[in-house]
Amino acid sequence: MGEVNEITVGKTKLSLIQGDITRQTTDAIVNAANSSLMGGGGVDGAIHRAGGPAILNECRQIVSRIGRLDTGKAVITTGGNLQAKYVIHTVGPVWHGGSRGEVELLLSAYRESLKLATERELKSISFPSISTGAYGYPVAEAANVALDAVITFLRNEPTSLEEVFFVLYDARTYQSYSTRLAEIAG
Ligand code: ADP
Repeated sequence: MGEVNEITVGKTKLSLIQGDITRQTTDAIVNAANSSLMGGGGVDGAIHRAGGPAILNECRQIVSRIGRLDTGKAVITTGGNLQAKYVIHTVGPVWHGGSRGEVELLLSAYRESLKLATERELKSISFPSISTGAYGYPVAEAANVALDAVITFLRNEPTSLEEVFFVLYDARTYQSYSTRLAEIAG
């Protein structure tokens, strides 16, 4: 089956790459956080390790203001020591088999992140594959939802974003996304 790693939607380029999101130089990177915003494993741990304590300090201030972050919502902090200026923290759904609103919650996590980036007039953003690690969302289904969320947003909302990246850590996840993008593009 074919693979595609780049399409243009309106004025925005959407690209898939395989790599480590903590090394991205986009204006923002997105963290697949948990509701506590206190860090964790996977990409969350990697971002806090690479970005240093300034990120966690801001997360603490946010939690003291608004409490835990609901699934599907997003908040923005400094990027600390990262090359990215900002980290957008969002909480994807835990996979329970698909009958607990997982699709809508995953769509929302992407949409809310894109809204925040647009409000801040950012030009570029990088997403990981939200929910497909510890949260157990099947990768092929998550790829479908993730690409749908981003493409729908870019088609319908005015945005400052010129570049959107999916930074996919492992080859299998990269392949799922690029297979799905080929279906969409074709
Ligand atoms: P979740 O709890 O939302 O499932 P995880 O961090 O467990 O989040 O996994 C989400 C995805 O992020 C997985 O595909 C995992 O392989 C990937 N990942 C882990 N570390 C990184 C990293 N440094 N850069 C990009 N993706 C990463």
